Amino acid sequence: KAATASKSAAAAAVASPVVITHPERVVFPDDGITKQQVVDYYRAVMPWLLPAIADRPTSTIRCPGGIASPCFFQKHVMARLEHVGTARLKEETGAQAVYLYPRDESGVIELVQFGAVEFHPWGSHIGSPDIADRVVFDLDPGEDVEWRRVIAAARMVRGFLDELGLVSFVRTTGGKGLHVVVPLNPGADWATVKGFARGFAETLAQLHPLEFVATASKRFRRGKIYVDYLRNGRGATAVASYSLRSRPGAPVAVPLRWDELGKLKSGNAFDLATVPKRLARLRKDPWEGIDAVKQDLEAVNETLAAR
Ligand code: ATP
Ligand code: MN
Ligand code: MN
Repeated sequence: KAATASKSAAAAAVASPVVITHPERVVFPDDGITKQQVVDYYRAVMPWLLPAIADRPTSTIRCPGGIASPCFFQKHVMARLEHVGTARLKEETGAQAVYLYPRDESGVIELVQFGAVEFHPWGSHIGSPDIADRVVFDLDPGEDVEWRRVIAAARMVRGFLDELGLVSFVRTTGGKGLHVVVPLNPGADWATVKGFARGFAETLAQLHPLEFVATASKRFRRGKIYVDYLRNGRGATAVASYSLRSRPGAPVAVPLRWDELGKLKSGNAFDLATVPKRLARLRKDPWEGIDAVKQDLEAVNETLAAR
């Protein structure tokens, strides 16, 4: 009896490799892309994806029946996972819930095995969930907004951030818009980040009322770009760089150099097939230096308030 018990304890200590069931199952029916191809994509981009999600509470969009069937935005543990970290965190409501945080390749692949197509991290790490280390300005074009205006808007956001002394980075979302990301070091608490993001968006909308709106209400968005600052709060998420999107064409959220933006044709210009090729060609990370940027929101909030 004792021998059996210690044997199974030893077996549990050595995590087994992730087995992909139904690798032939079609995930993107319009494109004929299978679960195995999704796994292969994530393995190919793993060194680029992992820094974006490792040790951050991460929600997934799971599409167990493929993207043409219902998909689920999943914040919490959905199965017994061997390779993914779990931690109890306080919710907005004050209740506690168990969140997932990928740590390594096996964890990412295990989530894909459980149907994950998209990865959406918090703006903070599991060890310090109350301290944000990035601000994300999610630029959402309303109806009747041409793509060149989205590019111009991202550049205006960059310019205004620059006036405040903040360095920023841009990525496609794989969808309709762009994200402008501001790294923070030291980090800031969520109240500070939220206050900054809202103040920034509202000031921008006042300065350029024909281009931007800062109110969530859909009816004000037609012909304008909504600066969705609500991505910045405890428990809020934004899509991870190098995540696939559960949309036809298997588009990908892709970090760019600012000087690449001009030739970008749309927010979903990159996909499962083209991103690994792009990465193989790149000589350096388009977001090189992001981890070395030192910028503090406290001082900036005073400057913004004074405008
Ligand atoms: P696009 O460029 O098309 O706008 P996007 O990723 O920015 O692409 P949004 O709809 O602007 O899409 O952003 C929504 C964000 O809100 C997602 O990135 C995700 O992190 C988060 N989100 C999506 N669904 C839910 C949900 N059900 N509950 C909470 N957050 C969600
Ligand atoms: Mn968006
Ligand atoms: Mn949005």
